[in-house]
Amino acid sequence: MGKSADFIADQFDKIGLEKINSSYFQEFTMPINIIKDAALKINNQKLRYGIDFIVKPNSKSISFHENPNYIFDPLDFENALKSENALIDFIQRDMLAQNSKNVVFPPHHFEVDSLNQYYKNWPSFYRPEENRNRAIFFFTKEKLTASLSQVQDSISEFFIDGKYFSNDLKINDYKIETEFQNNFKAKNVIGKIEGTNKDSLIVITAHYDHLGKVGDVYFPGASDNASGVAFLLELAKYYKKNLPKYSLVFIAFAAEEAGLLGSTYFVENPLVDLSKIKFLLNFDIMGAGEDGIQIVNSSIFTKEFELLNQINSKQNLVKQIKKRGEACNSDHCPFYEKGVPSYFVYTLGGPGHYHDIFDKGESLNLAEFEDLQKLFVEFINQF
Ligand SMILES: [Zn+2]
Repeated sequence: MGKSADFIADQFDKIGLEKINSSYFQEFTMPINIIKDAALKINNQKLRYGIDFIVKPNSKSISFHENPNYIFDPLDFENALKSENALIDFIQRDMLAQNSKNVVFPPHHFEVDSLNQYYKNWPSFYRPEENRNRAIFFFTKEKLTASLSQVQDSISEFFIDGKYFSNDLKINDYKIETEFQNNFKAKNVIGKIEGTNKDSLIVITAHYDHLGKVGDVYFPGASDNASGVAFLLELAKYYKKNLPKYSLVFIAFAAEEAGLLGSTYFVENPLVDLSKIKFLLNFDIMGAGEDGIQIVNSSIFTKEFELLNQINSKQNLVKQIKKRGEACNSDHCPFYEKGVPSYFVYTLGGPGHYHDIFDKGESLNLAEFEDLQKLFVEFINQF
């Protein structure tokens, strides 16, 4: 994270953005459970991290123990849900059978969402304190989508591509190495261009962090969110040459993926007066756009939505601008909750490599990158 922050600050410097309080950085610390390495060998085949398996981000460290496997039976479970007695009977059998064993969940998809949730959460119901040396192996038909955790729990859980499940499953080897850090250092990167009207601000944001790496396997985060940072930098370059009406503040946030921590820290410790922000534009996932864009909060701030659509239809820029209500799913949210009018803009289309190791530069089509620059430059100018 430090290298990316320095790179962005260097770009801010080259573009000629002003510092706030004589620094581009706003430092803070955060708790994070770091997955340093993980390995898994099934039926004598070494599986690849990020492709064949990932681990749950709140996992604790574990190394191989030759436990017997307990294979959870989803159909038995589903049948048991039909009567209270059957369920009590199932839970009793299940509690006895799983003790001191590695638990295997076969790939399964229930018709009902709440059952899928229950199935996924099952490992956390077992008494982990009695089962320190066992791991949970969750085989899934779903795409492997990684994330981060701010806590470490007392379970160690693998998510594995369902095609590796078989009835004669043999788990040959596994390990997870984690390190919990309470005060992991992170920093937001902030720069400014003074406008002719210094009393009001427009804030442009994009998070620069992603999911880091596990062992040698790296999650590049090209679409999420190097593309948004590139978008922010291009706007900064444009406005350095074409001075804006309102002052512009550019913020590249850290620690979005761990739970909007950089933006939350900023609104708790603001370097600008939040009440002076006329509008905030947060760009996150700007790598595609062939199917248009979608905007969180556009059904709340409708006047701005009309303006965007006017510009778009006049200049014929993107296919569509889709409306969406509020959602606390990116860095606009902590500002919105403090009463700052804000949009979160993301592109539609692209290859769909969300939070996986294939989100690489070469998979970005940047289909509407320039048109989107035109759209938002015009939007900011007419604001
Ligand atoms: Zn993102």
